Amino acid sequence: MEETIFDKIINKEIPADVVYEDDNILAFRDINPQAPVHVLVIPKQKVASFNDLKDRPAEETGIFLQGVSRVAVELGLAGDGYRIVMNCGSNGQQTVEYLHAHILGERQMNWPPG
Ligand code: IMP
Repeated sequence: MEETIFDKIINKEIPADVVYEDDNILAFRDINPQAPVHVLVIPKQKVASFNDLKDRPAEETGIFLQGVSRVAVELGLAGDGYRIVMNCGSNGQQTVEYLHAHILGERQMNWPPG
């Protein structure tokens, strides 16, 4: 798998504004925020794309999703709500080939998304 900017963040080769870290996930603020709170959550066990989750152990995926939930709640977003986005491939506008969940909060979201 090609090295991405998120590999460099995981390996501490470039800095990031980390808001949460444990053995399984790393969460850091997006460099180009699209909401007052915009945090990215990545699994430490690299997965390139949402497409690849079907081949991963279900427990690993569950731990990742629970981590996303934990970060959103610890950011104080549970009360008013928030949006989770996982972009996949070119139509999905995925720009970094390392699975990540966007947590967007503290503003009203719209539907349908752009
Ligand atoms: P994608 O379009 O779903 O792949 O989202 C990639 C996200 O990574 C974008 O929202 C970018 O702003 C963000 N991003 C790119 N480089 C960095 C960085 O070095 N630190 C934090 N966020 C980044």
